[in-house]
Amino acid sequence: MKNIRRIVKVLSTFVIMLALLGTAGATPKVIFTFDDGDTGVYFKAFPIMEANNQSGVAFLITNQVIKASGNNGWADINITEARDLYSKGWDISSHTANHYDLTTRNNTQLNMELNTSRNWLESSGFTRSYRFLAYPYGAYNSNVIAAVKNSGYLAARTVEDDAGIYKAYKLTDPDIYTMKTLMVYSFPAYGQAGEPPEVVKRKINDTIAQNGLLMLSFHMISDICCVAGVNAPEEYKTSDFKIISDFLKEKQDAGQLKVVTMSEYFGTDIPTPTPTPTPTPPPIDTTPPNITIVTPIATTYNEGTTILANYSCTDETSMKSCIGTVPNGTKINVTGAGNKTFTVFAEDTSGNNNSKTVNYTVLAQSPIQTPITVNISVSADSYVSSKAPTKNYGTATFIYVDAGRIGYFKYNFSVIPQKANISSAELHDFISWSQANGTAKMFAVTGTWTETGIKWSLRPTNESVSYGIYDIPICNTGNGDCTHMTKGFGNIVQRWVNGSLANNGFMITTAATITNSEIDAKESGHIPYISVTYT
Ligand SMILES: [Zn+2]
Repeated sequence: MKNIRRIVKVLSTFVIMLALLGTAGATPKVIFTFDDGDTGVYFKAFPIMEANNQSGVAFLITNQVIKASGNNGWADINITEARDLYSKGWDISSHTANHYDLTTRNNTQLNMELNTSRNWLESSGFTRSYRFLAYPYGAYNSNVIAAVKNSGYLAARTVEDDAGIYKAYKLTDPDIYTMKTLMVYSFPAYGQAGEPPEVVKRKINDTIAQNGLLMLSFHMISDICCVAGVNAPEEYKTSDFKIISDFLKEKQDAGQLKVVTMSEYFGTDIPTPTPTPTPTPPPIDTTPPNITIVTPIATTYNEGTTILANYSCTDETSMKSCIGTVPNGTKINVTGAGNKTFTVFAEDTSGNNNSKTVNYTVLAQSPIQTPITVNISVSADSYVSSKAPTKNYGTATFIYVDAGRIGYFKYNFSVIPQKANISSAELHDFISWSQANGTAKMFAVTGTWTETGIKWSLRPTNESVSYGIYDIPICNTGNGDCTHMTKGFGNIVQRWVNGSLANNGFMITTAATITNSEIDAKESGHIPYISVTYT
């Protein structure tokens, strides 16, 4: 018996040493928790613990806190008291919104209980501890646990006894939502076994021995004791509570344990650096908008033509305005000759401005002119003959054109403006007699001559290159004159009219010997004329 006791004692010491060695650096921990938020926690437990440099965890029924009086006595902690506790290092955590048995709630109600409480705690500023939960009545099942996880709680405490294991939980443990505890309540007066201070002290020592975690769960700390029908079984006497707190103080001072809150224990009092993405500020737009003008372009437009404005503005963010001289799709100004501008002003929503201008020219359109046709009669005509070199034929009735005879004709175009644009000129004359078809050439005469002075021996000079062909038709029926017309006079008339060639008329000449063509001279009464059309 003695030996056995000794072995047990040696073994115990050995176990303690092993525990200490095995967790070198770690310290046994005790966490005070208080469920339901009774003001006894604030008025009785808090001062005792504060004096002993201890902080606890208050699991509050958040919807009750909102309307609580906070009075000393049978009342609930109010927000002011909760904040005071929190500021002194306490954890303010969730005991749900309304303290229902969560296993009896449907999923909607369940989530509401968990989320409402959690959100209220967080928004009230209890940020280091709002994600710890104590199940009301300790009631949970797998569905409740799933909802608790889903609501973002990190850990949850049951009312189940730790069974002397004092597990040192980590947040990653699979049973972190079913944390065990030592329920410290019940007076003997209620006929329950209860946990008098001596029992709690023993458990504290065991925790130290095992280098574990002891979670103490209290409800009401009260001086009114032990009156059946008045008190609640959850009450714990203030003086007994003080014994426990003081005992822990001794152990603390001896360096044997630490009294911590849940947030201290799990490290959530130091806000975990959640990688909050650096909010990318909205891009500061310092670039002016871009302007594209499709029309008008830098060119010359004829007055009165239809040119539609076509432009657009783009920006890296967004446009505020894009305004052209005239609205997009409408006619630009092409009225009146001269230089014009078309400008687009653009502004983006960040206030950056830009403008773009296109210079264009409007060309005045002269009124459309109706072509004018004039018939100009020959003013001088004659021919010369090699057979009579000194003879003048200016008054002859016919102009002979054949081998040895050359016809000369002159027209006065002074009625046509010098700037006129000659579009056509036709020579009309009459053939009096021609034995056969023939071809003659027409040359511009460059030397001066007169109708009554010209003769073979005084033939004027002429251009070396013929400007046209004079077709001689056959005209031998004796039934009168044949009309004749030669086109292609436009160029030569143009030169005479605009003054680039002195108007000495033209000559018609041919090498044919048998043609014996006879062109009516003005003296015949059939007066040759040139029909000139010009604008
Ligand atoms: Zn409760």
